[in-house]
Amino acid sequence: MLGPAKLRRLDDPIAVSLEDLIPRDHFYRHLEAKLDLGFVRDWSQNLYAERGRPSIDPVIFFKLQLVMFFEGIRSERLLIETASLNLAHRWYLGYALDEELPDHSSLTRTRQRLGIDIFQRFFERIADLCQDTGLVWGRELYFDATRVRADADTDSLVPRFYQQAQTHIADVFASNPTQADGRESGGASALVPEGLLPFPMHEGESVETGVATHPPHWNLLEQRRLDPTRPSHRGYRRTSDFWVSTTDPDATPMWTAGKARLGYHDHYVVDGGKRRIILAALVTPADVMENQPMLDLLWRVRFRRKIYPRQATGDTTYGTVENIVALEDAGIRAFVPLPDMNHRRPFYGQDDFAYDAPRDEYRCPEGHPLGRERVKRTEGVVVYRADAATCNACPLKAKCTTSDRGRIIHRSLSAEYLDKARGYHATEAYKKVMRKRQVWVEPLFAEAKDRHGMRRFRLRRLEKVNAEALLVAAGQNVKRLLAFGYRRPRRMAQAAALRPPMRPSSYAARATRRSFGRRGFPFERSATARQAKTADA
Ligand code: SF4
Repeated sequence: MLGPAKLRRLDDPIAVSLEDLIPRDHFYRHLEAKLDLGFVRDWSQNLYAERGRPSIDPVIFFKLQLVMFFEGIRSERLLIETASLNLAHRWYLGYALDEELPDHSSLTRTRQRLGIDIFQRFFERIADLCQDTGLVWGRELYFDATRVRADADTDSLVPRFYQQAQTHIADVFASNPTQADGRESGGASALVPEGLLPFPMHEGESVETGVATHPPHWNLLEQRRLDPTRPSHRGYRRTSDFWVSTTDPDATPMWTAGKARLGYHDHYVVDGGKRRIILAALVTPADVMENQPMLDLLWRVRFRRKIYPRQATGDTTYGTVENIVALEDAGIRAFVPLPDMNHRRPFYGQDDFAYDAPRDEYRCPEGHPLGRERVKRTEGVVVYRADAATCNACPLKAKCTTSDRGRIIHRSLSAEYLDKARGYHATEAYKKVMRKRQVWVEPLFAEAKDRHGMRRFRLRRLEKVNAEALLVAAGQNVKRLLAFGYRRPRRMAQAAALRPPMRPSSYAARATRRSFGRRGFPFERSATARQAKTADA
């Protein structure tokens, strides 16, 4: 039977409590019970004046940021609209149905007031909670980085000298003397938040130009800031040495998805325990290579967490001599693949030459010696050279060198460290961590990108994108903190990665034969049939 049309009686006043409307087992109730954010208020006490208009509560600010993270919202305007309409969000924030939520513009001001230090402390506190709960193992550390697009397009790139000239002219011809520092004049440095060195600038420059800057608080971030006047490496100059984006001057060109875009590197240090807690997160311009902040992050994590990892794992990018030497000297096994330099050129590689340690020389495939010629300290290598006349008369010369001065070999000054790291590669422990790495760190980046908007930063400038990345990493840790205590099946991919590949047991083989006959599993059978067909052809 067709019922009557539904009447709209939405004006009738009803007596209802928000407390009653939210189910007892709702996610935000669980979050509120597990995570007390009162500590944020204590940290930000001295950032506010004693008198004046009351600000938005910093606890509410961080609760809104967590709602933004969990709901995958990318706009603060949309966040306030959503939270106003959502009963559970209102309950979590502590706003009654008739209370108005803060204006979205006040979130920007609060973020600027709190600064990167508070975001860093927030991330560290969440990691502390994870560690106190026993979710951090601390014996294995995984390092990785991912590219994240900046909120700027390559169209905004201009020559760096042009941008510097514009900034200089804006400062020199500022009509109001009080605007000479560029903060009020609308110049490039006007975008720089308080407490941050203007870009580009060296530390001493603030005194010369009279710009009122505070000393940087977070040294690691300042050290990894893009320095446009850095010396070139072996004559190599980066694109960012000559070009700068007017939209986001800290973002640098990177190659992703077959296109040049502006972006950053988001670096993670992940614990090897089952919960995969993120122990450090740092964003650098995209032209700061993944391996460069590795040691800074490692020392920071070790000191802050008081952990003593027995191994550190990363991909080939992390396998630099500097990293391996520092890790091994600290008693941490460097489980990193080494770049294969032997097969980059169509000639005999270094592996084809045998090193004779007592004589300190190499022997080539023809059995001739390559003696020590000189040490290149700037490159950290010793050069060994074969006799030019011997090489020029050698029948294998075409496979060995094109030089008429004899074949040379470069041996690193830290070769024994590299040999040690190379020696790990044959061990089962190394193979296991390499399989584990694929399911420990990379899914965290996928989770951040697919579910929490980290494919592209919402904010601009290095400090703000760091705050954004720290919140996402903290949110990912909060998810693991909340999930702790629930019994869940192990993720199949993770479980499979930890098992070494092995032949099926005799029981499994018998079961397969029972099911599919003596010729085995259908796929194998078809592959065998294909091979037989090919052989016949
Ligand atoms: S070219 Fe020189 S170094 Fe190479 S195999 Fe011949 S003799 Fe040895």
